[in-house]
Amino acid sequence: MEIIFIIFFGLLGACIGSFLNVVIDRLPAGKSLAYPPSSCDACQHRLSWLDMFPVFSYIFLRGRCRYCGAKIPIRVMLVELGTGLLTAFLYIHFRLVWMLPVSIGYSAVLIAIGLIDLKHQLIFPAIVFPAAIFALIVNFFVPNLFNLHNFLFGLLGAAVGAAFLLLVMLLYLVLRKREGMGLGDVYMAVMMGFMVGFPNIIVALFVAILMGGLMAIFLVIFKKKSTKDMIPFGDFLAISTIITLVWGSPILHWYLHWVKLE
Ligand SMILES: [Zn+2]
Repeated sequence: MEIIFIIFFGLLGACIGSFLNVVIDRLPAGKSLAYPPSSCDACQHRLSWLDMFPVFSYIFLRGRCRYCGAKIPIRVMLVELGTGLLTAFLYIHFRLVWMLPVSIGYSAVLIAIGLIDLKHQLIFPAIVFPAAIFALIVNFFVPNLFNLHNFLFGLLGAAVGAAFLLLVMLLYLVLRKREGMGLGDVYMAVMMGFMVGFPNIIVALFVAILMGGLMAIFLVIFKKKSTKDMIPFGDFLAISTIITLVWGSPILHWYLHWVKLE
């Protein structure tokens, strides 16, 4: 029985990933998500469901368009596969509780934001604002999501997230005399606060800074980028939020125990 649920959630996630590919391609270009139906970028041939079955179509067609043979970007398959694996994992981790659909929805939003930021160095308000409002509504109606009073702790999380990122922005402006990150990161921190609540927002910010810092050191050492380049911080925020949704409380307790506060 168990394996059927795991396969179901894996396939569900792969289908969500397939939709996220459409979002990533169309939203930054200002195109409609619903119309026109998907077609090949090269030959414009309409794609049937056989061409769009997540992950498997890519494998059976060996990564090429059935009609003209043009290469399909591997990113398409990786997003489907990654979202599928993550969704199956979320089921294994949470089981059938409220946190499962909530975390699947949040992860989908975070993957879309992260991939658009990676491609365009832009955090899209058109995704962040509706997602923040959605998380606010979830906090209001779903009981006991953070094992705390969701609504107040969500507001507190959003305030802490926004205050922290505004502070980093200001410090950057004063010390380096230029913008290191945009207002998009601040909006995103507000959304993250609603998603993970307080005090887990601190875990999310800490993990993101840790990853961003390690990546920056790595890139500077290997001279891929100079310290003057921007790093897409939105990606680290997206990854750290997913990590916090899953392991936020254990990480927090481990840390408090480590510094002997608990
Ligand atoms: Zn084609």
